Amino acid sequence: MLMNLALGLSLIPLPCQLSARDALLKHYEFSLPRMGTIFRIELYAPDDATASKAADAAFARAEELEQIMSDYREDSELMRLAREGTSAPFPVSDELYDVLAKSIRISELSHGAFDVTVGPLVELWRNTRTTGRLPDASELARARALVDYRNLELDAAHRTVFLKRAGMKLDLGAIGKGYAADQMLALLQSRGIRQAMVVAGGEVALGAPPPGKAGWKVAIDTPDTSTGNPPCAILLRDAAVSTSGNSRQFVEVAGKRYSHIIDPSTGLGLEGAASTTVIARNSTTADALATALSVMPVADGIRLAESLAGVAGYMVRQAGNGWKRYVSRGFPKGCPGGQ
Ligand code: AMP
Ligand code: MG
Repeated sequence: MLMNLALGLSLIPLPCQLSARDALLKHYEFSLPRMGTIFRIELYAPDDATASKAADAAFARAEELEQIMSDYREDSELMRLAREGTSAPFPVSDELYDVLAKSIRISELSHGAFDVTVGPLVELWRNTRTTGRLPDASELARARALVDYRNLELDAAHRTVFLKRAGMKLDLGAIGKGYAADQMLALLQSRGIRQAMVVAGGEVALGAPPPGKAGWKVAIDTPDTSTGNPPCAILLRDAAVSTSGNSRQFVEVAGKRYSHIIDPSTGLGLEGAASTTVIARNSTTADALATALSVMPVADGIRLAESLAGVAGYMVRQAGNGWKRYVSRGFPKGCPGGQ
């Protein structure tokens, strides 16, 4: 059963230009743990039943996707693919095919900074978290040899996936939550709920804005809190925004912090505090690009963001004792450096 956390905005005086339909809408908020984080839905609906039925269905969709994409559940489709997809092409669901095809596209755009075959390196990182010891050179070399998205073969006609090297492991940690947020938002929209926001951990997918508003106000989390906490916020609609950062998930070895975001070219977690925020037309793209741009050199990341329609990036990097911000063209105002 879902929890209805807030039911209050209808008490606020509404601007007079609202349509008759919009004037009757009420604000609802629901949240539930999914995919190792908290998923949250905000939406506007005419009544409680419509709101909670739609939210129930959206969370059920997230559950279905978790069963497909989880690398913690041995019986997930992703884990079956890893076990069986190295001997012969493995038939997959439309969802898994779709998210892997989108992953490969981002790998190509980022020249492998984002790589969905990063699984063996994530496994080493998790070992480090348990043992407090970095992998040795031979462990690292063995894992790195298994990480290359070009060894992932998708067959569109037969909807199969083939992993060309035994031992390859896929990890959807950098794109799956964004994919789920898109699917949940689409489901709400298919039920006539247009004014909605889905938040999946650091991934935010936005539909039409709240009644009478120009957009949803989204707080941007960066490690530089000199401008406040949260540091800043932007107004967005019909788009998605994702933030990837090193500050929450890392392992410390010999005084150095290694983030859960791995640079496939070194095999190790990124060092140093940083955050990368990406706006895109959908949450799948924003999620994957936020991870990709975390790994890429800043100038390359800005160039990539500016080459893609509907994409903008905002990066905060440690510089000595302070912070440096890098903002791509088109990043909205609200955060320092935005337009
Ligand atoms: P995010 O928080 O979206 O940046 O995703 C981080 C998660 O994605 C990690 O916990 C890993 O599961 C996975 N991951 C780490 N490094 C990479 C990478 N370079 N490419 C793709 N996925 C990665
Ligand atoms: Mg990501």
